[in-house]
Amino acid sequence: MRKAIPYGKQHISEADIAAVVATLQADFLTQGPTVAAFEAAFANYVGAKYAVAVANGTAALHLCALALNVNQQTRVITTPITFVASANCIRYCGGEIVFADVDPNTILLDTNLVRQMLESKPAGYYAGLIPVDFGGNPVNLQELRELADQHNLWIIEDACHAPGGFFYDSDGTKQMCGNGNFADLSIFSFHPVKHIATGEGGMITTNNEALYNKLLLYRTHGITKDPELMQENHGPWYMEMQELGYNYRIPDILCALGLSQLQRAEEGLTRRKAIARTYDQAFKDVAGLGVVQTEAAALGAADDTGHAYHLYIIRVQNRQGLYEHLRRHQIYAQVHYIPAHTMPYYRNLGYKPGDFPVAEKYYSECLSLPMYPTLTEEEQLFVIEKVKEFVFNGR
Ligand SMILES: *Cc1c(COP(=O)(O)O)cnc(C)c1O
Repeated sequence: MRKAIPYGKQHISEADIAAVVATLQADFLTQGPTVAAFEAAFANYVGAKYAVAVANGTAALHLCALALNVNQQTRVITTPITFVASANCIRYCGGEIVFADVDPNTILLDTNLVRQMLESKPAGYYAGLIPVDFGGNPVNLQELRELADQHNLWIIEDACHAPGGFFYDSDGTKQMCGNGNFADLSIFSFHPVKHIATGEGGMITTNNEALYNKLLLYRTHGITKDPELMQENHGPWYMEMQELGYNYRIPDILCALGLSQLQRAEEGLTRRKAIARTYDQAFKDVAGLGVVQTEAAALGAADDTGHAYHLYIIRVQNRQGLYEHLRRHQIYAQVHYIPAHTMPYYRNLGYKPGDFPVAEKYYSECLSLPMYPTLTEEEQLFVIEKVKEFVFNGR
């Protein structure tokens, strides 16, 4: 029988296993040399100055909010089409999340709407923006940075879907997601469905040294052992807890896995793009099937190769029918995302269905098809066949 086909899946190689075993046989299970090695390699991969490895992507978001001093007075704009953690991190610190609707073509935070929101409030009303490179589609951060500078805002880029993704700025320069040139902080996740898998894991990248130092402090209980930063020094045992931090560390074992996976990141990305091109070709003339436009295509550029294809999303009117049809054939497509503002928690804060019509319409039609480097050609053709079968015949 055919194996079930999920929408996303990790790939663990012999080299990955060997790397983890080597760490198990070395001196450190946690906070050894592999954490720093993974951070350095990741910073280099995305082109940022600093990287801080943490327990998971949600911890990364929380640490960013802490480093940016989010508190009860802070209002932050984000997209409803994201994993809820992008918004929750502000709530952890007591701040207010203000959702803004998405662009109907790219399903990314709608810059024009954000501009209108900023201009309709007094200066200082909003403190920051959390754009999301949704599905691997890189946000044009240059545009958002200009807006943020006009209104004195910080930017946390949720780049969980886009390690290796990039966009071209107005000079035609390639700008990697998470490179720190536009966002103050960028975050990544190493959950198994993401490009690089460590089981649980996350990373923050930045070019800002002051923020970097705060992240290090908050990652480990707010404690420092750096004599230069301490207020007192009682002897070699001495350390100081200077802030209320957390234990958001990631162990060496997992960093060994991440470091090994990172060596194959470009290979995986190339395969994801090839899978996307095959889907594009197969569906381009199928009436009743829509796709999510890339940001580059929406801007009229021919080259959309900066898309990191965490997801390949189609839009179809009878989404539930197609979802069930695929399931009957053991193809486990997924829906990304249920708009965050419609979750009971956010409804209790005053949001309701109808607030963000573009996001809600998108949600009613979207389906993420299998997209991962080890998806075989034969499996992908089977997926395509079953999608077309349903769209043509309704069965
Ligand atoms: C996965 C994900 C997160 C959270 O990452 P975890 O490692 O699961 O905590 C946050 N934002 C987005 C967009 C994600 O996809």
